[in-house]
Amino acid sequence: MTEEFAALYVVPTPLGNLADLTRRAEEVLRTVPWVAAEDTRHSGPLLKQLGAQARTLPAHQHNEHEAAVRIVERLQAGESVALISDAGTPGISDPGARVVAAVRAAGCKVVPLPGPCAATTALSASGLLDEHFLFYGFLPSKGGQRRQALEELRDTPCALVFYEAPHRVLETVADMAAVFGERTLVIARELTKLFETVHSLPLGQALDWLKEDPNRQRGEFVLMLSGAPKGGDDGEGERVLKLLLADGLPTKQAAKLAAAITGAAKNALYERALLLKE
Ligand code: SAM
Repeated sequence: MTEEFAALYVVPTPLGNLADLTRRAEEVLRTVPWVAAEDTRHSGPLLKQLGAQARTLPAHQHNEHEAAVRIVERLQAGESVALISDAGTPGISDPGARVVAAVRAAGCKVVPLPGPCAATTALSASGLLDEHFLFYGFLPSKGGQRRQALEELRDTPCALVFYEAPHRVLETVADMAAVFGERTLVIARELTKLFETVHSLPLGQALDWLKEDPNRQRGEFVLMLSGAPKGGDDGEGERVLKLLLADGLPTKQAAKLAAAITGAAKNALYERALLLKE
């Protein structure tokens, strides 16, 4: 490739199903002299299968700065580079943003390719009717910080999209139920793979549903919540709960009564009451 056309190509790779690699992505990976990969060993088989001749260089979370310098050098020498992560779109809860920023700052060309991304793939099958969505990615792994982050999102009038690891899905869903009360949760698991499931249910029932079958807790997850009612309305259940708590009722009784009066889920209101008391 000549200097004039040297570019950093941001190339999404499949989430699971190899047939999801686009023809354009395939062509770029086959023809560029360099591929910057999150994990060169992980991406090796894909590149081999494509018959790619490119040399690889690592560009992961811990070396992104140095990788960016090397990539800019290659581009300035007139050689194109494809940037890939282990799966999905680089820079989306994956390394890549720093490399792109450095390349742009150096005045070199960045060419984004459309392609697989767990968030948009999951959303397209969610059936959530919110006009807008907010992509959050991973929540903090520590309980207190996670609940705090969720609290901050509570009144956001957009569908909320999270990534989550299997070993944290139960605690995250429990925290969501405690913070958000009544919402719709859509659980998308193992997208594009053999055990792909997309399941929609009231948030208050989600923990029990996940616990009913350990297989439901396995694999990779996108969790999507319907947005807050516009105008920051807390919902009828929570409004009544707050009144009862303010009147001095014990937590459990307030949750029980608020649930009976409004039809909201008792457990979710109880968790919410505990948080409000904190
Ligand atoms: N860059 C990727 C993208 O474009 O979606 C995301 C990478 S992030 C490190 C990995 C997370 O994405 C997983 O923990 C999971 O939350 C989500 N994810 C990736 N593949 C998935 C799949 N096949 N099904 C459901 N979620 C997936």
